[in-house]
Amino acid sequence: MLVSSECDWFRHQRERKTVAKDTRPYFTLTNEYPRHRKIRALSDKAFRLHVELIADCNDARSDGKFTKSELNMRGPKAGKELIEAGLVTALEDGTYELHDYLAHQHSKAQIEAFQANKAEAGQRGAHVRHHVKKGVVDPGCELCQTG
Ligand SMILES: [Zn+2]
Repeated sequence: MLVSSECDWFRHQRERKTVAKDTRPYFTLTNEYPRHRKIRALSDKAFRLHVELIADCNDARSDGKFTKSELNMRGPKAGKELIEAGLVTALEDGTYELHDYLAHQHSKAQIEAFQANKAEAGQRGAHVRHHVKKGVVDPGCELCQTG
């Protein structure tokens, strides 16, 4: 008889494989991000602001651009700190930009292409399931018309 001494964490990790993948949008931070020379030197508040700005830019699909009020959402000191660290650049039009944002994060065009592909795959799946397999031709279904 096998006696399991597996702790909850391991059991959770094992069971996760059968759980549906989280499909909410996400951004990318490398493992070395917290140790990066520029990041390591930040105050806690500026560190938090930097991570929030990355998430907000991803949400807004702004390609790393944001407004002055977003820069100052944790107070002007934290915003200024990010500029002085070279993590944020002030643009000529009065807005701001995260340094090297598109080198690590998805662009607006990439996010939109991904969502279009996903929607198309969903539409095709429904067409196959409800029309092709049942021998139904739906006049309202684009795929039934084009084959
Ligand atoms: Zn169809």
